[in-house]
Amino acid sequence: MLKDNLQEVEERIAHACARAGRDRDEVLLIAVSKTKPVEMIEEIYQEGIRAFGENHPQEIREKFPLLPADIQWHMIGHLQTNKIKYVIDRACMIHSVDSLHLAEAISKAAVKSDRVMPILIEVNMAREASKFGVLPEETESLIRQIAPLPGIHIEGLMTIAPYTDQPEENRIYFREMKKLNIDIGAKNIDNVCMRHLSMGMTGDYEVAIEEGATMIRVGTGIFGARSYAR
Ligand SMILES: *Cc1c(COP(=O)(O)O)cnc(C)c1O
Repeated sequence: MLKDNLQEVEERIAHACARAGRDRDEVLLIAVSKTKPVEMIEEIYQEGIRAFGENHPQEIREKFPLLPADIQWHMIGHLQTNKIKYVIDRACMIHSVDSLHLAEAISKAAVKSDRVMPILIEVNMAREASKFGVLPEETESLIRQIAPLPGIHIEGLMTIAPYTDQPEENRIYFREMKKLNIDIGAKNIDNVCMRHLSMGMTGDYEVAIEEGATMIRVGTGIFGARSYAR
C-alpha cells in the first residue's frame, strides 16, 4: 500500500511539473520518514526512493546503520548544537539553519570531520510566531555572515509554510521564497549557490512545485498519518 501512496504522489508531482512546464528531474522527492519504522523505509527504498528526511538527529543516528548506505538522509528539523554530532557524518544536507550560532557549530563539526556540509537557510516566510526560521528581510544578511565559514556550503532556502487545508493559501509564500532566492542569488555572494528551494509538504507540494520548489518533503502522503506529532 505504501507503493500505491508513492505512486499517487509521483503522479501528482508529474502533473504539477507539467502544469509548470518543468522537468520531473528538477524536483527531488524527499520521503519524510520521521517516527516511521525501518521496515516502511525499506519498502519505499525498494521503489527506488533514495532521499529520506528526518527531523530528529537521534532518529537519523538510529536508522542510519540499519538501512542501505546509499540512502541520502536530509536533516529537515530544528537542530540544537549539541545534536550536530549525530548528523554531521550521516546527513547529506541540513535544511534548517536559521542562526549564525548554529552555522558556526555545524562549520566546526564539519571541519573536524573533514567534510563540507551543504546547508539551506530556513526562512519563516509567513512570520508565524510558532515557527523557527529567519525573517525574509534578515535572510541576506544572515547568509553574508554564514557564507565565509569553512566546512559548509549554502545551497538555497527552505521554508515550512503554514498548516492549511487550502494549499492555494500558501502560494504567495512559495512565490516570495522563489523571489528571495533569485534576489540573493543575483548578489553573487562567495561560497553561496542558491540553487535549491526546499518547500512543499503533503498538503501543498503541488503548489510549491508550480512556484519553483526543487525539493519537496512529503511524509503523510507516502507513509500515512503519524501516530504522534513531531
Ligand atoms: C514532518 C515534516 C514534513 C512532512 O510533513 P507531511 O505533512 O507529513 O508531509 C516536511 N517538512 C518538515 C520540516 C517536517 O518536519
